[in-house]
Amino acid sequence: MLFEDTFKKFLEIKELFKSLVKDRKKVEELFKILEKPQREIKVYLPLKRENGEIEIFEGYRIQHNNFLGPYKGGIRYFPQVDEDEIRTLAFLMTIKCALVDLPLGGAKGGIKVDPKNLSEKELESLSREYVRKIYDFIGPDKDIPAPDVNTNSKIIDFMIDEYLEISKSINVKLKAAFTGKSIENNGSEGREEATGKGGEIILERFVEKVNLKKPLTVAIQGFGNVGYNLAKFLYQKSYKIVALSDSKGGIYSREGFNPELVMECKKEKGMISGCYCIGSVCDLSFGEDISNKDLLELDVDILIPSALENVINTENAENIKAKIILEMANNPLTEEADEILNKKGVIIIPDILANSGGVTVSYFEMLQNLNNEKWSKEKVFEELENYLSKAFNEIWQLKEKLNISLRKASFIMALKRIYEKY
Ligand code: NAD
Repeated sequence: MLFEDTFKKFLEIKELFKSLVKDRKKVEELFKILEKPQREIKVYLPLKRENGEIEIFEGYRIQHNNFLGPYKGGIRYFPQVDEDEIRTLAFLMTIKCALVDLPLGGAKGGIKVDPKNLSEKELESLSREYVRKIYDFIGPDKDIPAPDVNTNSKIIDFMIDEYLEISKSINVKLKAAFTGKSIENNGSEGREEATGKGGEIILERFVEKVNLKKPLTVAIQGFGNVGYNLAKFLYQKSYKIVALSDSKGGIYSREGFNPELVMECKKEKGMISGCYCIGSVCDLSFGEDISNKDLLELDVDILIPSALENVINTENAENIKAKIILEMANNPLTEEADEILNKKGVIIIPDILANSGGVTVSYFEMLQNLNNEKWSKEKVFEELENYLSKAFNEIWQLKEKLNISLRKASFIMALKRIYEKY
């Protein structure tokens, strides 16, 4: 369902794309090819729980397309993971890598599990078992996994360790088989914050282009890796962060929050509710709790879904009051919601562009491993700014030239690169 829905959005550019290139037959062929992933791997992962019982978990690695280079994409641990979701995300990775002009294709992986129900030892065993099952299909020149929802550098460190053990090699270049490793384990400076930093870069380019004046009000759904880091960077650039949320609910204040203080409070309390922190103090009188539903419908300049897919759908699209949506989560809008919001004149900065900072710094991590280099965080962010600003400017020009949405312009730009290679 999700894949069909996402591919439908992509199909909308087919006729327009045909009018822009010479070989119309080749376009038809390419759309047929991209509608199916090149390989879908489903694995069953037996895990001996600490109580001695065996439990079997389902895992996936779906390799969508590698015309531009080895497959690349994250691995998520989530109870609702299924083939359709992973296939959709793998397709989006193909488009995202092409869009930013990385020599990489698209893939995605996942395990159907709630990691909160596993001990650390069990989590390690499950992660290692997953690598054993997909080992033959991954590697620096085949497919390079990375972290995603509920996975982090610690899990990736278990995975690369297992990968090297099976490879019986100590060649440091093989570390490029996974990205998102810890710094001590040849990870890249800035990788942890990269997706949030990328979102900031793209939003800043947009704000400059349309000449918006700050302070702009911002509501962010999701306060994990992406939502928190983006909130932090936007706060530093004088955006007013008026609403934040996590899975347990959200907070609102007209004065705007300091995300770093909210994070300190969340760490103490285990949730964001009640964390009304402004300036250097946290005080009850500064804000109020709001639901995730209400957060999405706030009257703000910029709404930033940074948690899950399909959170804006036919049920709430008409009620959205934000003027700009920066899609940091993958696929936060259903196809119908996208249409409704476009008609309402809401500007949507699409996921494939907005959240491409993560994969771009993953690529830098691969380069550092393969060339035995170590870049400073400043260099990483400088290069990230170069890549993303270039992508943004190209897409903006195309959008202006063809008078189309940023999503369509992004699809066309990505497809052009894949078409040229096909
Ligand atoms: P994360 O696990 O670090 O954080 C997810 C956040 O969403 C948490 O704060 C969680 O409490 C919140 N959340 C979960 N369910 C929710 C719900 N029902 N309502 C509101 N909030 C809810 O994950 P992340 O890495 O920050 O990823 C978030 C999104 O960004 C995902 O769609 C992911 O695919 C996408 N993304 C992540 C990266 C990356 O580098 N991490 C890169 C590109 C895209």
